[in-house]
Amino acid sequence: MKLLYFADLHGDYPRCEYSLELIKKHKPDIVVNGGDLLSINGEPFIEQPKFIKWFGKQLEASGINIPYLFIPGNDDLKAHLPLLNEIENKKLIINISGKKTRIGDYEFIGYSYIPDFSYMLKDWRKLDDKNNNKLRQEVQPVISAPGGYKPIDNLEEFMRNQPTIKQDLDRLPAPSDYSKTVYVMHCPPAGTDLDLATDGTHAGSRAIHKFIDNKQPLLTLHGHIHESPLITGKHCIRINNTVSMHSGQQAFLLFDLEAIEDSLEVIPYNV
Ligand SMILES: [Zn+2]
Repeated sequence: MKLLYFADLHGDYPRCEYSLELIKKHKPDIVVNGGDLLSINGEPFIEQPKFIKWFGKQLEASGINIPYLFIPGNDDLKAHLPLLNEIENKKLIINISGKKTRIGDYEFIGYSYIPDFSYMLKDWRKLDDKNNNKLRQEVQPVISAPGGYKPIDNLEEFMRNQPTIKQDLDRLPAPSDYSKTVYVMHCPPAGTDLDLATDGTHAGSRAIHKFIDNKQPLLTLHGHIHESPLITGKHCIRINNTVSMHSGQQAFLLFDLEAIEDSLEVIPYNV
């Protein structure tokens, strides 16, 4: 079963068009878009809805008739989820965030949240685990709501009132067979070749790394730390029996689920 994976399109119209061209050219059985479809720059309450509507029209016009799995990433405002639902209602995408979907012999489970850091938008941010250090915040934290941002008065309380990423992962729908399960998680596992940031820190999730270590699914697909594959030269690593991948923004990953590493084709894209 052939799969095309990419993430972090970030409202880039040409790159999104290119992804559709690749689907037509390579005819995968499944497409997986690992989140951050939209750009946080500019006016997200104008630009993001505009992009979502355009994206829906492109999908419709393309006539692509295969499962297009999607999860929101940390920059995809929750306020715009109803617009994404409209595309999903037309059966153009399947949002698997927090859900399980079976396609053929495989099950796909999505997870959008990333560990908190000092950025403004907290829609998709949670504490990684109970060992999270004191929160650092340099700008007014907000969540998105219809029509605009809403300030968070007490970030500490906001974060502590939500389950941690570790707790969330324990509560995700359980697969029937981990060795036939693909997790699509926007955030990469911490301390690996998939989560290295420009400043030399590993910015992934400890909880996600532990989860992969413990459960050993067939495959995990990540994005988020765009530069990591450029710094480490790695799109694909192994965590024991699990293959974990990160497309970065400079590549699309095409492979067969029956022989992931042997069949992997890295299709470059110049950002
Ligand atoms: Zn991201």
